[in-house]
This record gives sequence, C-alpha cells and structure tokens, in this order.
Amino acid sequence: LGDQILKETGRRLQAVCKVHAAACVGRMHADQFCLVFPSDISLAAMREEVDYAFNSPAEIEGQAVDITLAVGVALPPADNTTMAQLLRNAEIALDAGRTQHRNWLMYQQEMETSQRADLDLLSELKRAVEQNELRLYLQPKVRLSDGTVGSAEALVRWEHPRRGMIPPGDFVPFAEKTGRITLLTRWVLEHAMRLAASYRALGRPLQISVNLSTFDLGETGFAARTAILAHEVGVDPGDIRFEITESGAMQDPASALEVMNALRTSGFSLSIDDFGTGYSSLAYLQKMPVAELKIDRAFVRNVRPGSDGAALLESTIAMGHRLGLTVVAEGAEDAEEWSLLRAIGCDYAQGWFAAAPMPVPEFDRWCATQLPFVR
Ligand code: C2E
Ligand code: MG
Ligand code: MG
Repeated sequence: LGDQILKETGRRLQAVCKVHAAACVGRMHADQFCLVFPSDISLAAMREEVDYAFNSPAEIEGQAVDITLAVGVALPPADNTTMAQLLRNAEIALDAGRTQHRNWLMYQQEMETSQRADLDLLSELKRAVEQNELRLYLQPKVRLSDGTVGSAEALVRWEHPRRGMIPPGDFVPFAEKTGRITLLTRWVLEHAMRLAASYRALGRPLQISVNLSTFDLGETGFAARTAILAHEVGVDPGDIRFEITESGAMQDPASALEVMNALRTSGFSLSIDDFGTGYSSLAYLQKMPVAELKIDRAFVRNVRPGSDGAALLESTIAMGHRLGLTVVAEGAEDAEEWSLLRAIGCDYAQGWFAAAPMPVPEFDRWCATQLPFVR
C-alpha cells in the first residue's frame, strides 16, 4: 500500500510539472521528493498547483486515501547559490516544519542556527564513532527485595571536543531519523558485549541492557549480525538484554516480533522499555518473547501511597507478573518512591535515588561501596 501511495504521489507531482513545462520532479529517497522550477514561475502559482493536485483522495486498492505533503521550500538569493545548498536549505525548512507541525514552510536564515546545528551534529557523529568520542555509562537496576545488582543499563554519552558532554536526547533522535543510529547501536553493542564478557571473566557476571531503536529492528540481518558479534567477542548472549520501547515495538509489531524472536533464539534477553507511554495491544505483549517490563518514569514520579498513581503502578506490576515478567520501575528519585515500589511488589528499581548513570570505573566503585543498597 505504501509503495502505491508513493507511486501516486510521483504521478501527481509529475502532473504539476506538465502544467509548468520548465519544472521537474524526482524522488530523492524513501518518501522524499524534490520539485525544481525556474524562478520565472511564481511560488504562489506553484503552491496552488501542488495543493490542487493533492486535493482529492487517491484510490488505492479500492480505498480512498488522503495524501498529505509536508513541504520545505528554498529560493535562491540574489547571489549564485549552488543546487546542493538549495537542497540543503529545503531540507532544513522541511525539518523545521516538522517540529513546528507546519505542512509548508519557507527556508529562513533564522533556521540556520538550530536546524543546521543538528545537521552538522549528525555529520559529526560518524567522526565521533571513529575518533572514539562516545562514552558508555552504566546505571544499576537494583533488586528491591535485597538491594543487590545483577544488571545495569548501558546509556551512551558523547564527549564532544567543543560542546562537552552531550546527552543522548540531543543526538539519538536525529541519528534515528537519518538511519545513522545503526552506527551508534553497533558501537554501544560491541562495548557492552566486551564489558559483559570481562565481568563474567572476573567472576562477577553482570547483565547489560542495550537500547534498540525502531531503525535497528527494521534492518535486515540485525539479529544474525548481532549473534555473530557476540560469538566474536565471546560474550554469553544471556548477559545482553535488549530494551525496545513499547512505542517502537508497536510501530510495526509484526516485524518487531520477528526480530525479537530471532534475538531470543540466539539466547539474548529482551525487555519492553518506557512501558505505559505507547499503545501496546496486550495481545502482542503476550506474544513478545520478553523477560522484563520497564514502567516509564512518568508513572513513578511523585507517586505516594494510596494515590491513584500507586493503584495504577500496582496493577501494572501485577499484570507484568501475571505474564511472567520481571518488572522494573524507571526513574525512582526519592526514598518515598523507593519504599512504595518495594511495598507494592515491584522487582527492580532504576533511578537517581540509588545512582545516576556513571562511567564504568565509577560504576564499579559504586558497586564495591554501596551494595547491598537497602533503604
Ligand atoms: P531510557 O532507555 O528510558 O533510559 C533511561 C533514561 O532515564 C536515561 O536518560 C537515564 O539517565 C534517565 N534516568 C535514570 N534515572 C532517572 C531518575 O531517577 N530521574 C530521571 N528524571 N531520569 C532518570 P538518558 O541517559 O538521557 O537517556 C535518554 C534516552 O536516550 C534513553 O531512555 C534511551 O531511549 C535513549 N538512549 C540512551 N542511550 C542509548 C543508546 O545507546 N542507543 C539508543 N538507541 N538509545 C539510547
Ligand atoms: Mg532504556
Ligand atoms: Mg526507559
């Protein structure tokens, strides 16, 4: 269906170009098209043609489908801008439109700082991997019953030579959008595997959780490559757990399920991350070969005994247990949240109250001095 919508979009844009013989259109990649026209055609006229072309729904497999375009526009200034610059400007306008929820946006100089900074950051990401600027931080998941730590989450940081330490929220979403996330995943995975293997060799095994993005799930051969990597590194696959967000798993549940099953077959362990923020069908949840449910920190924040929030947490934990899952609460920040989580039967808590994500040597020190973490 998606392919047919793309073809129909192409046909309609071509029809626009038939009206204005000097215009031409091409598909850049995925669902992105580029329409180029000489400046003697007015932008207003062009916009009218495009709007008109997408006014009526397309009929695809007997169904009426509305096609909505998001458009980024760039016009050359008086001096001679190159086509490459124009394309880049249009892309910046498109990105800005996406964040401002506008379907049609003209490139403006002011977009430079924010949007272009993001693009530059992206091109730097490849270099960051090569130059070893990424850092792996670990945050413990503490078992509430006895204060022990059997697993930790790997969280990436970027130590930028000029910008300093960049949190993942500032580059992971962009890396995901452009597919560059696979580079990052590979880096984190390899380091997490080496680390887990070395902990096991030291006689104190630690399961390390690695976050996966939907892009990784959609990449063919991801599960097979991961199994090969584990073999090369010599890590026990059971020492690696993959966290897949609920919303990520639900974007394309059938293919997510396929990748998850393949990873599980290779011996890796799986977890549903940020649970409660997506819309998962319980039917799918039941089918997923996961061992762990991580309740999003939005449900943990400021929760107090006897509140509706506590009731919600308690029933989510009970549901997880019924499905045979271990339940982890994210983002426990104070003693009250911590003791409530223990009281209502949550298995693990991960949060600043115990420890924030730390560089590996600091994590080792924390384990040596703070465990068992009983409060
Ligand atoms: P996440 O997987 O849900 O990770 C938990 C986030 O909660 C981490 O933020 C962690 O620092 C933060 N956190 C932990 N305890 C507390 C607390 O008590 N209070 C509060 N307010 N926050 C707490 P971080 O490290 O900034 O990571 C944010 C997100 O970025 C992660 O969410 C994950 O989705 C993504 N991410 C991080 N590293 C990677 C990675 O290597 N690959 C991928 N694909 N995504 C990553
Ligand atoms: Mg996570
Ligand atoms: Mg999470």
